[in-house]
Amino acid sequence: MIELLFKKKYFYPDDYKKTVFDINFEDLKKIGIKNIFIDLDNTLIPYDIHTADERTLMLFEQLHQLGFQVFIISNNKKDRVKLFADMVKSRYVYSAQKPFKSGFRRALKKVGYPKPETVCLIGDQFMTDVLGGKRMDFYVIVVDAIKRKSEKWYTKYNRHLEKQILQRLRRTDQDFYERLKLQEKR
Ligand SMILES: [Mg+2]
Repeated sequence: MIELLFKKKYFYPDDYKKTVFDINFEDLKKIGIKNIFIDLDNTLIPYDIHTADERTLMLFEQLHQLGFQVFIISNNKKDRVKLFADMVKSRYVYSAQKPFKSGFRRALKKVGYPKPETVCLIGDQFMTDVLGGKRMDFYVIVVDAIKRKSEKWYTKYNRHLEKQILQRLRRTDQDFYERLKLQEKR
């Protein structure tokens, strides 16, 4: 029944990559992306890690060099989000309440409300990142969660909903998995 609550199009990410390191940011620039909104937990670091490693620091260095406006957009609390965002020299929105629009709007305001098609949202969850990003008309890239074991109960519940929706999409739109090459485990 869950699929009746949402429009199907809101669950179609524009692209899928295994990790954030597999994303070609120069290509994103070529298609007009100017703003990178990126989820924190399980997209950049698992729940039980608090700091950015060398590879992640280099990734953000590259994003800044390419001229992107970069925001960490997380539903998590301020302390955790700020610590990480400061390390990678980026702005942030904490308690973003994805998939609701308010958190995204807080970031958009800081960069003068750019056109939604210039924003790329990257995240690991369909129920928060993909749904939230598509409701905003952003370009959305979904990645695999880094480590699911440490997810909290409400994320586990979102994963349960995610599974139901993806199973339904697989039945009703056979091209979906093919197109994105989503992994079987989703
Ligand atoms: Mg996440």
